[in-house]
Amino acid sequence: MIVDAVSRSALRWFAAAALFVAPWMATAAPAAFDLREVAPGVFVHLGKPLALDAPGHDDIANIGFIVGTRCVAVIDTGGSVRIGRALRAAIRRRTPLPICYVINTHVHVDHVLGNFAFAEDHPSFVGHAALAAALARSREFFLRQYTDDFEAPATPAQIIAPDRGVETMLDLDLGDRHLTLRAWPKAHTDCDLTVFDEKTATLWTGDLLFRERLPALDGSVKGWLAALDVLARMSVKLVVPGHGGIAHDLAAALAPERRYLQALVDGVRSEIAQGKPIDDAMAHVGTAEKSHWLLWDSTHAHNVARAYQELEWE
Ligand SMILES: [Zn+2]
Repeated sequence: MIVDAVSRSALRWFAAAALFVAPWMATAAPAAFDLREVAPGVFVHLGKPLALDAPGHDDIANIGFIVGTRCVAVIDTGGSVRIGRALRAAIRRRTPLPICYVINTHVHVDHVLGNFAFAEDHPSFVGHAALAAALARSREFFLRQYTDDFEAPATPAQIIAPDRGVETMLDLDLGDRHLTLRAWPKAHTDCDLTVFDEKTATLWTGDLLFRERLPALDGSVKGWLAALDVLARMSVKLVVPGHGGIAHDLAAALAPERRYLQALVDGVRSEIAQGKPIDDAMAHVGTAEKSHWLLWDSTHAHNVARAYQELEWE
C-alpha cells in the first residue's frame, strides 16, 4: 500500500510538472495518445496490460470511435476523465463532425470513467438496458477507489449513465453508416453490449473477449460460454476486443478464452463433486492455464470464487 501511495503521489507530481512544460511540449503530448485506423473510419486506442491499481490503470481498455458522414460514435471512454479527454482530442484531430453517441460496452471502471469528458458534446449516452442500474450500484465504489481519476472534486454526477438503454438490439445511423448494438444476457457482466459496424464488418466485443490479458468474471461463466458460442458463428472481418490486440479471425480469437472458461467450469464442478470448499478450489482449479495469460495473480482466484458461487447450486 505504501509503494502504491508513493507511486500515486509521484504521478501527481509529474502531472503537476507537466503544467509548466514549454508550449511545444504541451502540444506534443496529445500525439502520444496512440490511435490507429484499423478499418476505414474505425479508430482504436489499445489499452495497456496493467493491473487495476497500477500507475496508468486508467488506460487499460481498448477504446475508440467510428466516423460516419453525419456524426461520430465513441465506443468506451477509458478509466478517467484524462483518458476521455485524450480520446476526444484525438477525435477532434480527425474530424470536425459532432459526437452524437457515446456507447459504453459495460459497467467496468476502465470503460466508463472517461464519459464526463464528452458531456460538453451533449451526445446520447447508450448502453445495455441494465447499465444504468449497474452504474448506480458501483458509484460509491468508483468514488472511493478512483477519486484521482475524476475531475476535482470527484462527484457522483461525473459518472454518467446512459440516457438510452438497449434491451436486445439497436441500430444507430451515423450517416451512410449503421452500427448494430446488441445487448447480451449475463456473461462477463450483467450489462454486456457489442457494437457491429456494418460498413467494415468490424465487431467491438467489449469485454466479452479478452486477448492476452486474463478474462475477469463478474457475471456468469455459463452465460459467458453461451455468448461465445453465438459470437463464434458471427460473420466478421475485424475484431476489436475489450483488452488485447485486434484480430481478423473471430472464432480463433475466442478459442483461448473459451478454453480458460471451460477449464474454470470443469475444475470447479470437480471440486464441488468431491465436496471441496471454495478455498481448495481457488488453490487448485485451472492452474494449467497460468502460463497462457497476463495478470493471472490479480484475477484468477477471484474468477474461481465467482464460478464456485454460481455452480455450487446447479
Ligand atoms: Zn470488463
